[in-house]
Formats: sequence, C-alpha cells, structure tokens
Amino acid sequence: MATKVNPDFTRTLQKFGANTATYCFHCGNCTVVCPLSTDENQFPRRFMRYAQLGMEDKIKNAAEPWLCYFCGDCQRLCPRQANPGEVMMTMRRYLTSLYDWTGLSLKLYTSKTSEWLAVAGLFLATLILVFLVQGGASTEHTELHRFVPRYLLQIGGILLGLGLAGMLALNIRRMHGFIMNGGRQSGYVKIPASVYIKELGTFLYHFLTQNRFSQCPTSRTRYIKHWLLFLGFIVLFGYAGFFLLIEIIKESLHAGIVTGLKVAFVTGSPHLLFPALHPIRLLEYAATIAILYVVIDSLAGRAAKKEPLHQNSHPTDWTFLLLVGGTIVTGLLTHIFRNLDLPLATYYTFALHLSFIVPMFVVGALFTKWAHAIYRPLALYFLKVKETAAKLPQMDLF
Ligand code: SF4
Ligand code: SF4
Repeated sequence: MATKVNPDFTRTLQKFGANTATYCFHCGNCTVVCPLSTDENQFPRRFMRYAQLGMEDKIKNAAEPWLCYFCGDCQRLCPRQANPGEVMMTMRRYLTSLYDWTGLSLKLYTSKTSEWLAVAGLFLATLILVFLVQGGASTEHTELHRFVPRYLLQIGGILLGLGLAGMLALNIRRMHGFIMNGGRQSGYVKIPASVYIKELGTFLYHFLTQNRFSQCPTSRTRYIKHWLLFLGFIVLFGYAGFFLLIEIIKESLHAGIVTGLKVAFVTGSPHLLFPALHPIRLLEYAATIAILYVVIDSLAGRAAKKEPLHQNSHPTDWTFLLLVGGTIVTGLLTHIFRNLDLPLATYYTFALHLSFIVPMFVVGALFTKWAHAIYRPLALYFLKVKETAAKLPQMDLF
C-alpha cells in the first residue's frame, strides 16, 4: 500500500512548537545515542525523516513519540542543530491534539489567545460560582465548611472528575484507534480482549513508576523530580477521594447507605479526621513541599534556558506550571489562615485556590501538558499488547 504524503505537514507541525526536522541530514547519531530507542521501536531519526517528507500517517499511527522522555542527549550530539528531542516533543503535542475529539486541544496548542481566554474564563467562572454558592459563613471565626458547603464541594469535585474521565476515555479510544488500528489497510487483525486484560499490568507499572525515564543516564535527577511531582499529585488529589470512599463504606456498613452518604457529603471531611501531626497530614505537607519545589525549579530552569528541554518552552508549559504553583500556594495559605483563625483571608484564598484548580485540571491536565501522564504509559501498553498478540498463532499478519 502506497504511503500518502502531506506536503504541508511541516507547516502543521510547526504550529505545535519548534520544527527543525528539515535541518537533519540523517547521520543517525541521535538514534545511536538515545538510551530508549530499540531495534523494534527506533527513533528519533526515523521520525525526523517522516516529518521532513510529510508522512503524516506514519506519525499519526505511531507510539514512538511517546517513548521519548526528552532527556536531550540526542540534541547535544546532533551536528545539524536539528533538535530531534524537541521535534519528538512537538509530535507529542500534535498527537495530543489529534486524540482530542473536541478540538479544544488543537486550539489551546496553536493559539496563545485561546489558551489564555480558556484559563481566564474558567478561573473567573469558578470564582463567581464560589461567591454565588457561599453559605453566609461567620466573619468572626473561620467556618470554611459554611463558606462553601461541603456537599457542594464534594459534588462539584465528583462531577468535574467524572466529566474529565469521560472526555479522557473518548480521547483514549481515538488514541487506540490510531496506534492499534492505523495499519488496518496493511493487514489488521482484531486482538482478543484477553490480551488487553493480560497486559494491563504494563500500563499500571509504567503509570506508577515511569521507570523508563530512569533509563536515561543523564536525566536521573529529572526523573526523580518528575516522579515526585506525580506522587505529590496522587497524594494531594487522590487522598480526599480515597478517604471520602472509606467514610461512605464505613458509615454505610454501620448505619445504612443513606447515612453513609450524608456523613460523607454533608458533615464529614477528610481534613477533620486527622490531627495536625497525624502521619497522613505529614504526608500531605511533604507532598505540598515536593510539588512546590519541583514547580519553582522547573520555572527557574525554563527561565534560564540552560537545558535542551527548557530552551524552547511552549506557552502551555508555562501556563501549566503557573496553575500548579497557584493551586499549591493558595492551598498552603488557606491552611495557614484557617489555623490562625483569619476568616476573610481564609475565604478569599480558598476561593482563589478553587479557581486555580479547575483550569489546572481542565486546560493543563486534560487537553495539554499533563495528558502525557496517561498517553505515555498507554502507548507502552498498546505496544506490549501488540507484541504479545503477535506471538499468538492466529495473529501472524502483524
Ligand atoms: S543527529 Fe541530527 S542530523 Fe543526525 S540524524 Fe539525528 S537529527 Fe538528523
Ligand atoms: S530526547 Fe532523549 S529519549 Fe528523546 S529521542 Fe532524544 S535521546 Fe531519546
């Protein structure tokens, strides 16, 4: 089957970041030096070639751009300053926009104005909503649970989580279509569901450990920072949901499901369950410090532009870091003001805190920067599924 070529593809890719693929003269240094390139999945030189020739379908259906962690080793040894690591990063942005069925990711990546409008719109909408629902809390003493009633906070969080999860599931379906079914014309065979189930551990392993990043010898420190940030998010944002679930189960077993739901949504609060020096609270503080450290370090790195990774920051890189930083700082201040019993300061910073969280998850995590936290382990999972399926006797068309 002939491969289609899109002569405008170089320009398309350019919109997603630095596209210096045309400088490449295919010496192959980058593929040789890349610690993650393998015989089965070779990159980045091959992808520089695809980008140069406009072989759009080859890139659309590939998992390899997700296998690069942008350690920058290839860039340092490129004699043509073709920035192969940067081009792989640009391809990941392009793929993220391709998987997104809403078209929002494309808008956010290719128009700075759209990105800022989306962030500002969500920020202001959340702020207005908070002041519309706020329940007449005391100005003498801090009553955060009255300022935004707990059940509204819980329901809002659950709706946001379900909405994002639903949209992400549709994006993942499209990603699966490109990577697994993209070769349909050249002998596609449906893989049995049992293979997908059997290899689920691959996804979980790479999602939780991000272990492949540690195989880049020059990026060990970055791997640790990357992982700390990820772990910090799991602790801070997974924590409330986990304890909410425990509360519902505990109270439901004790007094029935209606009471269980009432306690969890109206009166209960994971933050009230543990005293200040409880290990769970200490874990929260540690996660907050870790995230703050990594965010400040990344912002400083991007401003200094010393590392290849930081030399061509995309506007979405800055936005995401600023939203995470804003979320953490306002969360920390809310905690401090609440403990000092400063009601107005607590309420205002908490409203700002919620207004940072919403665009951080919607713009930053689902449509742009942090989508890679899901797409990368998924790409590794899909490759493993293909590898296992290829060994099945009936799958010899792979
Ligand atoms: S090292 Fe540079 S010039 Fe050589 S193949 Fe890689 S990108 Fe092209
Ligand atoms: S940036 Fe690192 S992981 Fe990515 S292609 Fe280059 S050497 Fe490989």
